[in-house]
Amino acid sequence: MTSLDDLPIRDDLRGRRPYGAPQLDVPVRLNTNENSYPVPEPVVEAIGKAVAAELRDLNRYPDRDAVALRADLADYLGHGLGTGNVWAANGSNEVQQQLLQVFGGPGRTALGFTPAYSMHPLLATGTGTAWRDGNRGPDFGLTAADAVAQVREHRPDLVFLCSPNNPTGTALDPEVLDAVLAEAPGMVVVDEAYAEFARPGTPTALALLPGHPRLVVTRTMSKAFGFAGGRLGYLAADPAVVDAVQLVRLPYHLSALTQAAARAALAHRDLLLGTVEAIKEQRDRIVAGLRLRGRRVADSDANFVLFEVGDDERVAWRALLDHGVLVRDVGLPGWLRVTAGTPQETDAFLTAIEAAIESVPTGSDSGLTGSDSGLTGSGPTGPRPAATGPAPTDSGTV
Ligand SMILES: *Cc1c(COP(=O)(O)O)cnc(C)c1O
Repeated sequence: MTSLDDLPIRDDLRGRRPYGAPQLDVPVRLNTNENSYPVPEPVVEAIGKAVAAELRDLNRYPDRDAVALRADLADYLGHGLGTGNVWAANGSNEVQQQLLQVFGGPGRTALGFTPAYSMHPLLATGTGTAWRDGNRGPDFGLTAADAVAQVREHRPDLVFLCSPNNPTGTALDPEVLDAVLAEAPGMVVVDEAYAEFARPGTPTALALLPGHPRLVVTRTMSKAFGFAGGRLGYLAADPAVVDAVQLVRLPYHLSALTQAAARAALAHRDLLLGTVEAIKEQRDRIVAGLRLRGRRVADSDANFVLFEVGDDERVAWRALLDHGVLVRDVGLPGWLRVTAGTPQETDAFLTAIEAAIESVPTGSDSGLTGSDSGLTGSGPTGPRPAATGPAPTDSGTV
């Protein structure tokens, strides 16, 4: 049997692993920050009609420039943006890949501040862009001075910022963005995948677009809109950036079905975004519930919560899975991430956390504590033990 190693793949891809949040069939899936609510029936019908209307014309290529969809997206964003400011693709991941293709590439570098979205370095690598792992301060904070110092050190062609940040959940201090925009020699990409969940008053980078032709804001319909399966992400920027992306985008990259479905979803955005407030309530319930149990929790402006489990998050991840709840091991030692969904899912998660305390094999009698004492307690030291039982394990990407 031929293995990957036998194939003449690029040297810089050798030994790498693909992005892989496990897609497991468990009752409570809270690991990829999807919207837990199914698409409401009126929207199902509208999308069905819109898609059906395209079917006879599938012999033809779709609108290569997706003009009608981009106009709808610009209308949704507001901030005085028009069709020429917006570009769309199959998920914001594809948008970011296109940005790296046109502004990055071999001999160029991109900088992000870890922990942040794990796809940013993967997309950089895939496009031959050297990735620079910048860092954050204690408690995952990022100050303007710290960010500027790292930009100055690396002189990156692209800087990736994420607000609210995945996996920590916190929104970016506007001073950081101002400072990075003033210092960065190249493009500044602000990934706002979770913008709709931010607390009232949280600024969006969209407001800074006028006068900043090197600023790009990426958004997605995968999270708040509950349209992850529809695959639609987009960017807002100076029209010159949209022109630049044309140099690398595949012709007809957005299918007629995707464009029609996304437009129908956008036309019903009030209904689709109607779940956002309910999800924010569950997010705040999870934060309060975990703090009540003595855990350290990062403040969240998103639809997920990063919480401390102790020394070995892989053991805790596995224990929660054994209780029917799939959360995310983002590769941060001692921490796990859980998505906020329905009230029933919050109940199941908080119950599983309680139950997992009893089942985790550990030398400590405190088990899943929220403090520094952690999982292993007086148990083994040295290399972290492997999670018990057979696969699946999480890949450690966000
Ligand atoms: C989920 C997520 C996305 C969404 O990617 P799509 O390709 O639009 O589904 C983008 N950025 C971050 C930080 C995310 O967490």
